[in-house]
Amino acid sequence: MNAQNLLEILVNQNSHHDHITGIMTVLETIANEAQGLGLLIDWHRAVYGKPSALCATLPAVEHNKAISPIRTILLVTHADTVFPVDSNFQKISWNDDRSRAVGPGVIDDKGGIIVTLLLLEKLATLSSRDYEVKLLCMPSEEIGSPGFSKWLEAQSATASIILGFEPSLPDGSIIHSRRGNRWYEFTLQGPGGHAGRDAGKVMNPGSALASLISEIEKIGKPEQGSSTTLGSFHSNTNGFNVIPSEAIAKLDVRYESNQLRDQVHEDILRVIEKSAYSDQVKWKLHEDCPAMRLNVESIGLGKSLAEEIEKIEGRKISVVAAAGSSDSNYLYQPGIPMIDGLGAVGTGLHTENETLETASLETRAEAIFKVIAKL
Ligand SMILES: [Zn+2]
Repeated sequence: MNAQNLLEILVNQNSHHDHITGIMTVLETIANEAQGLGLLIDWHRAVYGKPSALCATLPAVEHNKAISPIRTILLVTHADTVFPVDSNFQKISWNDDRSRAVGPGVIDDKGGIIVTLLLLEKLATLSSRDYEVKLLCMPSEEIGSPGFSKWLEAQSATASIILGFEPSLPDGSIIHSRRGNRWYEFTLQGPGGHAGRDAGKVMNPGSALASLISEIEKIGKPEQGSSTTLGSFHSNTNGFNVIPSEAIAKLDVRYESNQLRDQVHEDILRVIEKSAYSDQVKWKLHEDCPAMRLNVESIGLGKSLAEEIEKIEGRKISVVAAAGSSDSNYLYQPGIPMIDGLGAVGTGLHTENETLETASLETRAEAIFKVIAKL
C-alpha cells in the first residue's frame, strides 16, 4: 500500500458531515483497500438517506475454536470532516521533504484511517491469529454519530480490546479517558406584556429562567469532574420595553463518569422543582454522550502502547485524559481495555492549519502491531 498516495486521495475528497456522496466515496475507497488486504466488508445504516458505517473484518487464521473462543479487536475511525464543500480548504499540501502535510481531515481522521490500514496490512501477514480484527469507519462522528450509539455499544460489548484512532495529542500522547457531555435546552413561557404597564404584574420568563440557570450553573464542580456551563441565552424580544413571552437557555454539561452525569441530572431537576415555575419550565436534550471512563484494564494496555511508541519514536509518550468526546465514548464498556488517540500525530485539527507528522502513520501502526502481536 502506498500510504501517502492513499492519504492524498482520501483528503482531497471532501467529506464534510453533510456531504453524503463525498463520505460514501471515502468509505468505498477504504472498503476497496480493506478488501484487498483480505477483510470481509459489511455496511450498517442507522438513518435512512444518510451514509452507512463501514464494518470490515480481518478473520482469525489457523485458530482452533475448541481450545479458546475467537477474540475481537475493535478499531474505530471516521470518514467525515468539519470542512464544508464551499470552504477554501480542500486539498492536501506537503512540505519539501514530505515530513509534514497540511489538509482538511489530514489527522482527523484520515491519517487515523491510514494508520489502521497499515496496521491491518501487517496483521494480514501473520500465519496464525486467534483473534479477528474489526475496523469500523463511521460516517458522522463530527456530529455525534446520530442513530449509531446503540449499534456502537453492541459492537464493543463483545470486543476484547477497543482501540480508537482519533489523532493523538499534539505531543504524541495517547488517550485513556474522555469526558461525556449533554446539551440541555430549557424553555420558559409567560404571557408577555408592556414593560411599563405590566411590570410586576406578569411573570417575566427572561428573568425567571435567568435566575434558575444561575442556580443550575452552581451544580457542576469542575474540581470533582463535572461542569454545567451556560452557552446561550435569549428571549423572543429584542427591545427594552417589552416583557418577553418566551426565554430559551442552552446549557453544556460535562462529566467524567456516567454516575456523575446522573447525579448532575437529578440536581438539575431538583432546582427546577424547587422553583416557582416548576410546572412551566420545559427541557430537552440535544446531545447525550456517555463518558469514556478510565478503567483498570485500560491502564495496562495504555502502558504497553506508550512504551512501544516511545521505543520507535524516541520520545516520551504519556497516556492522558482528553477533554472532548468521540465515538469512543459510545464504545466504552466497563472491564474492557480501551485506548483512544492512536491515530496520526499532528496539530490544528478542525482548523485550516491541520497538520500531519507524516512519519507517525508508520510509527504508530508499527507500535500498535507489536502490542497486538504479543496478545
Ligand atoms: Zn475525529
